[in-house]
Amino acid sequence: MIIAERKPLKEILEMISGVEKLLILGCRGCVAVCSAGGDKEVAILASALRLGRKKAGKPIEIHEDTYIRQCDPEYLEPLKEEGKKYDAVLSMACGVGVNFIAECCPGVRVMPALNTSFYGANLSSGEWAEMCAGCGACILHLTGGLCPVARCAKHLSNGPCGGSVGGRCEVDPSVPCIWQKIYERLTSLKQDQLLRKIMPMRDWRPAGHGGPRHRIREDLLP
Ligand code: SF4
Ligand code: SF4
Repeated sequence: MIIAERKPLKEILEMISGVEKLLILGCRGCVAVCSAGGDKEVAILASALRLGRKKAGKPIEIHEDTYIRQCDPEYLEPLKEEGKKYDAVLSMACGVGVNFIAECCPGVRVMPALNTSFYGANLSSGEWAEMCAGCGACILHLTGGLCPVARCAKHLSNGPCGGSVGGRCEVDPSVPCIWQKIYERLTSLKQDQLLRKIMPMRDWRPAGHGGPRHRIREDLLP
């Protein structure tokens, strides 16, 4: 899922400084699962902003709502009219949701309440880790299911850099060297012959280096 975290309150208060009527809009997708932008987080942020503005002597009218998803046009439809009732909409979705509101609702001013971070997995309560960088050309069948694109600090495709110590990454010793883990896993699965395979230079265009990505499935078009 997409992992995000709320921006500092001070930054959000500055963002909405001229706003007198605000809609805080949560999303029940990924950001709700990672406890950044669901119903509960909308309520907490609304209270904090009301208090912050009251303390500053500039009370604000805030309405709260949460959509099923902010990255799907059918759920954004009501916002086209509803959004015009407010000076701004503060979205608690990922950046995709904020962009999509801007695209679908021309009359609505939208701001991001979250910093969208990465595609990650939930390791334990309150802990998430990046597992995929959405590179568009997956090589996990060659690496024991562990991703060196997202999980190696140097994005190496052909083995380790040689700097790891005790199985930890030399760039950030708080995380394991993913190439060490790939080696151990392929060895235990008796697939270590894959380690001798030289991967060709990657074409990074599918990873977004060729411009914004766009996908069409002809069979699903209306
Ligand atoms: S190889 Fe690419 S698509 Fe596959 S997990 Fe890694 S970043 Fe994601
Ligand atoms: S120590 Fe391992 S994970 Fe860290 S940069 Fe080198 S190869 Fe990548």
